[in-house]
Amino acid sequence: MMGIERLAVMFGGCSSYRSDSRSTGGDALSRVEVAGMLTGMRPHEVDFVYAFFGDKEAELRLVAHLSLVAHELAKREAWKAIEDAMLERMAYSAVREILDKRCKACKGTGFKGIKACCQCGGIGMSRIKDNGIARWLQVDPSNYSRVWKRRYDCVFVYVQDIEFSVKSIIRRSEGRDAILLA
Ligand SMILES: [Zn+2]
Repeated sequence: MMGIERLAVMFGGCSSYRSDSRSTGGDALSRVEVAGMLTGMRPHEVDFVYAFFGDKEAELRLVAHLSLVAHELAKREAWKAIEDAMLERMAYSAVREILDKRCKACKGTGFKGIKACCQCGGIGMSRIKDNGIARWLQVDPSNYSRVWKRRYDCVFVYVQDIEFSVKSIIRRSEGRDAILLA
């Protein structure tokens, strides 16, 4: 079972856990298990966490969920002649972009030791360029910027919201454990 500390480090921005728990000693960290933390999450948020750690089935479930989201968006905005395959490509691309955008050098934390990561300039992530997304969606770049970019960004932002939500649940869980274990 992954420790909460590792999970926190992998998601970045949660490094306060170590300093918050100094009064409880190092052993406290190993007693906290991820399962407890996941209980507060919705199914697609749990899938996001598992997909983040490379679980392909969780990733497929997440993509299926997002395909439905894209489908709803297409219906609401009355997109014309949209194929399911296109909605699936949008969903898959958004998931891959979020999961892959992390800087490999610093694992998305923005730091190498105590210095800012020089690969990503300390941001911890980078978005894929428009041409790359256009290729993923199998549309030409001008069509992408004219029609698909705004649509794709809606789906991308939806995945980003899942990520934010997961991170805030992790932070809340850290705070709660710090109180319980103090
Ligand atoms: Zn970096």
